[in-house]
Amino acid sequence: MEPSSQKTRTTYKVSKAKLIIAVGGEWDEFAAQNDGKRALSRSVIGRPIWDFVTGAPTRMWLEALFQLAELRNEPVERIYRCDSPQLKRVMSMRISPEDEKVLRVDNELISVEPLEKKVVIRHHSRNPDTTIRMRCSICGKIKVGEEWNEPVELTEDNPAGIIVAYTVCGSCKQAMPKSGSGKIRRSGESPDL
Ligand SMILES: [Zn+2]
Repeated sequence: MEPSSQKTRTTYKVSKAKLIIAVGGEWDEFAAQNDGKRALSRSVIGRPIWDFVTGAPTRMWLEALFQLAELRNEPVERIYRCDSPQLKRVMSMRISPEDEKVLRVDNELISVEPLEKKVVIRHHSRNPDTTIRMRCSICGKIKVGEEWNEPVELTEDNPAGIIVAYTVCGSCKQAMPKSGSGKIRRSGESPDL
């Protein structure tokens, strides 16, 4: 993951059932840098977008935004972080209804700058029997006690990598859409914090 390999935009489209029906932009390059071969375009068409979303709280966050775009029938935009070990990357995600059945999602790189220290994040499923920290999949911060900190602040104590499970932090939850219609809120589902 070299600083020179900065791709700026990935696009995908999902059906009403949230199956991926098209990918474009720099998807393959971006996927190769981030998720590896499993996410290359030829292997994602027809699969649920949820196969590529880690953690129930993150899924609920994205579902709520999809529903908001569908209900309002207008674009919804959110900012999130998608760092690499050496780079702080701020991204925007724009969800645009193309018609009643299709949502188009554009992820665009807004800014990129080097991190002061290399940060290695590992998912807990590959690292059992270790200390697991909660990480917000929207802003990228990691929970320490009651605080949410930038991963770079923890990296010295975790040179082999910070082991995380994904959630959505309080302030990113507050930025989630709220609906008086009740269509967005789901009963019987709670984030597994
Ligand atoms: Zn957050």
